[in-house]
Amino acid sequence: MGPTVAIIGAGFAGLCMAIRLREAGIRSFTVFERGPGVGGTWRDNTYPGAGCDVPSHLYSFSFERYSSWTRRYPGQPEILAYLEMCADRYGVRPYVRLNTEVTAAVYDESLGRWRVRTSAGEELFDVVVSAVGQLSRPRLPDIPGMDDFRGASFHSARWDHSADLTGRRVAVIGSGSSAAQLIPPVAEAAAHLDVFQRTPNWVLPKPDGVFGPAARTALHRVPFLQRGYREWFYRYTEGVLYPALSGGWSAGPVRQRALAHLRARVPDPELRAKLTPDHPVGCRRIVIDSGFYPALTRPDVDVVTEPIVRVAPGGVETTGGLREADVIVYATGFDATGFLSPVEVVGRGGRRLAEEWRDGAEAYLGIAVPRFPNLFLLYGPNTNLGHTSIIFMIECQVRYVMGCLPYLVERGPMEVDPAAMDAWRRRLAEAMGPMVWQAGCTSWYKDAAGRIATNWPGPTTLYRRLTRAPRPSAFRFAR
Ligand code: NAP
Repeated sequence: MGPTVAIIGAGFAGLCMAIRLREAGIRSFTVFERGPGVGGTWRDNTYPGAGCDVPSHLYSFSFERYSSWTRRYPGQPEILAYLEMCADRYGVRPYVRLNTEVTAAVYDESLGRWRVRTSAGEELFDVVVSAVGQLSRPRLPDIPGMDDFRGASFHSARWDHSADLTGRRVAVIGSGSSAAQLIPPVAEAAAHLDVFQRTPNWVLPKPDGVFGPAARTALHRVPFLQRGYREWFYRYTEGVLYPALSGGWSAGPVRQRALAHLRARVPDPELRAKLTPDHPVGCRRIVIDSGFYPALTRPDVDVVTEPIVRVAPGGVETTGGLREADVIVYATGFDATGFLSPVEVVGRGGRRLAEEWRDGAEAYLGIAVPRFPNLFLLYGPNTNLGHTSIIFMIECQVRYVMGCLPYLVERGPMEVDPAAMDAWRRRLAEAMGPMVWQAGCTSWYKDAAGRIATNWPGPTTLYRRLTRAPRPSAFRFAR
């Protein structure tokens, strides 16, 4: 019998944690999932064209090198199917409690355990692992008149499949990665599409394609080919894309590639000017999509850059006048910098996590928070990436948490030492120095105070090294 563990969320991170616990012979865990199925963001985002811009073979667990990917870049249905397959294959489904939202986790000092409150009641656990993700809470904008709109309107991550777009006038608000993916199929269906763009993003083409029978067979049958293919992409992202974000050699070439893509795909100089960003490449999340620009050049698509004034019953009103619409899609992103704080988390001495994070969320290695014993975060503050697969980071964090379990079993509840937290804070600030995210641009990487709260500034190889095993000297133990 190991410690009892509550995992919040059954997306990539929650499932990875569950799989590793079960492999270690620990059965005393529960995965609480507020939704009706596993898959997290890949269950929620069902908009047309949804997919990932990290290659399939890299966007998967290292221990489950799925060899049957049909495309170079996976679509949402295939990623969801992969996660469901993992849940079954590793026998973790019986541990997942669906439709059960965690509303609070309160540390009971007298017991040294967590009282986890859900929509179904309260239970005690030794350990709480948050796997709530960074992109799980859709953010609707605060535009006057949104409730007065006559037609259907919904967020990209809550796609209303009953809304028929065929032959309708559609408005898409936003021009980030989600918008870029859904605009081509929406433009295809709609009679007219208005894209409301506030800030242009840098766009790189996505060299997608289906694997032909020969490639599929080779990647399926020859394990070293599959490993090599995955490894090649990993090295490319670390060796070419990472330097572009950290003031390295590839910033210029990546910018040139994005400009060449814009020139090649958008012949109209007026539209091209609208789509040309004025921030350095990588400051905001680069959009990787080949269909976005061609869709914007269609005669039945307009890119509207006049600021939105309000939503009227019949459309979207800008400073340039009313743009009529039957359907509005809000591709307006997520509340990324709140992390776990919407759940009421109360640590030692009655400290509230939301209060601790008043000036911005932070955690030692992105995983542990002082005064919150036996609470571990996956994909927590400063662990997001702008250049490679987040699954890599999640696996590092899960391995780290697994490494903590023997300590807390032997020495009682563990919490990170404030001195270790201070050292981490300094290290992070220093590493952040050369990163392009800090340049003058707005982005979801920044919290309300303008601090980069979501992203890890180093190469992922360094993060792997730092999280290889917990250092007991960084923690305080109850015994
Ligand atoms: P996002 O990148 O945050 O984009 C939100 C968009 O909505 C921006 O264009 C933003 O404009 C606009 N917006 C927000 N509030 C607005 C308002 N009040 N008025 C007008 N425009 C407004 O969100 P996202 O596209 O959902 O993507 C989020 C992240 O998810 C991505 O960066 C990526 O990491 C991930 N993702 C990845 C993929 C992929 O793998 N290809 C696909 C989808 C999502 P401003 O820029 O001016 O704020």
